[in-house]
Amino acid sequence: MTTCNRRSTVHPNDPSLRSFIPVDPSSDFPIQNLPYGVFSANGLAPRVGVAIGAYVLDLWALAQECRIDVVEPGVFAEPSLNAFMALGPDVWSKTRARISELLRHDNPELRDNTQLRDRALVPMTDARLHLPFQVAGYTDFYSSKEHATNVGVMFRGKDNALQPNWLHMPIGYNGRASTVVVSGTKVRRPRGQLKPPTADVPSFSPCKRLDFELEMGVVVGQPSQMGEMLTEAQAEAMIFGFVLLNDWSARDIQQWEYVPLGPFQAKAFATSIGPWVVTREALEPFRVHGPEQDPKPLPYLQQRNAQNYDLELDVALRAPGTSAEQTLCRTNFKYMYWSSVQQLMHHASSGCAMNVGDLLGSGTISGPGKDQRGSLLEISWNGTEPVELAGGIKRSFLEDGDSLVMRGWCQGDGYRVGFGAVEGTITPAE
Ligand code: CA
Repeated sequence: MTTCNRRSTVHPNDPSLRSFIPVDPSSDFPIQNLPYGVFSANGLAPRVGVAIGAYVLDLWALAQECRIDVVEPGVFAEPSLNAFMALGPDVWSKTRARISELLRHDNPELRDNTQLRDRALVPMTDARLHLPFQVAGYTDFYSSKEHATNVGVMFRGKDNALQPNWLHMPIGYNGRASTVVVSGTKVRRPRGQLKPPTADVPSFSPCKRLDFELEMGVVVGQPSQMGEMLTEAQAEAMIFGFVLLNDWSARDIQQWEYVPLGPFQAKAFATSIGPWVVTREALEPFRVHGPEQDPKPLPYLQQRNAQNYDLELDVALRAPGTSAEQTLCRTNFKYMYWSSVQQLMHHASSGCAMNVGDLLGSGTISGPGKDQRGSLLEISWNGTEPVELAGGIKRSFLEDGDSLVMRGWCQGDGYRVGFGAVEGTITPAE
C-alpha cells in the first residue's frame, strides 16, 4: 500500500477546496461533488470513475498504482458500483476523502505526475457512460403531495383528490429492474391495451399518451435483513447516493390496466437514470426539512433529522428537427412530502429485505407552482391544455423524435453539486 504526503485534513465538502483541474463555476462537477459512474474509453473495459470538471477520473487506473489505499482495488475494475457500494459507508467516506485529496490544487501527487495524469484523467467527450450500477430491484413511490393532488383532482375531483391512505404512508409499487437504462438510451414508444372511455372494447396499439415523470432515484448501497425493520439512522446509512430518474409512463395503458393492482405495463417498458451517482455525503450541505407532516406519521415512520434536499430540477424538451431545448418545468426536490429515508423505513417495515443496488424512485416531483409540474399529464392537464412552445410547437404528450432532458443540482456559494443530465429520445413503436 502506498504512503504519500497526506494533506491537512479538510472535509471534502469544504467550499474553499480547489482542484488543479480547472472547473467552471457552472459545472456540475467541482471537487466538492465527486459523483461516481461507470465509463469506458480508449477501447478499455468499463470501470469505475469519478466526474471532475470536464474529465472522468479513472479509479481503476489509480488503484492499480496503489493510489487509493482505502479499498480493495479490484472493485474499481468492475462494470458496476455494486462491489464498491457493498463495502459500506465508512469505506465510501474514506474513499471520497482520498479522491478529494488527490485532486486538490496544492497536492503534487497526481498534479505533477504527467504519466499518471495522462492515464487517469479521461476527457468526458472521449468517455462512454454506462449504467452506473446493477439494479437489484426497482421500487417507485408517489411521494409528492402536489403531484398526487393534481392527479387526484383530474381523475376524482377536488374533494377526493388524495386517497385516505396517502397522508399515512409513502405509497409505492414494485417496478421492473430489467428495463432501467442509462441516459442516452433510446426509448421505443410502448404498445399496449388501450380502451379510451369512448370505446366499447380494448384494442392493442401504440401508446398515444406517452409521458415523462421527473423523479430522483435513491441508490441503496447496503442490504437489510429479511424480517428486520429499519431505524431512521439505519435507513440513512444505507443510502449510497442519488441519481436523476425519468419514469416514462404510458398514460392510456395505465388508465385501462391500473384497476385494481396499480400500474404494470404502463411503467415497465423503460426507466431512465442519469450516469452519475451523487453521494449522500456530497449532498449533506444541502439538507433541509421537508413540509410539515400532518397528521403525524406512525412511530415507525417518524424522522428527527432534516431528510429533504434543496435540489433544483429542470426539465426540457428538444423537438425533432430542432436543436433548442425548451423548458417544460422547473421545480425542487425539497417539496417532497415523504423523504427517501421514510420510503426506505416503510419499504422494510413488513420485513422486506433490501439489497445492494436497489433503486427507489421518489415519485414525480411537482411543486406548488403551475410551472413546477413534473409530468406532461399535469402540465397539459390531461391533454386539455396543451403546452405551447416557441416555433409553434404544441404538446399534450410526447411525440416520436422528442428528446426529454432532465437536470438537477444543488447550488452552493460559487459552486454547484450537480447530477449532469438524464436524456432520452422517443422512437416509433414500429
Ligand atoms: Ca413514477
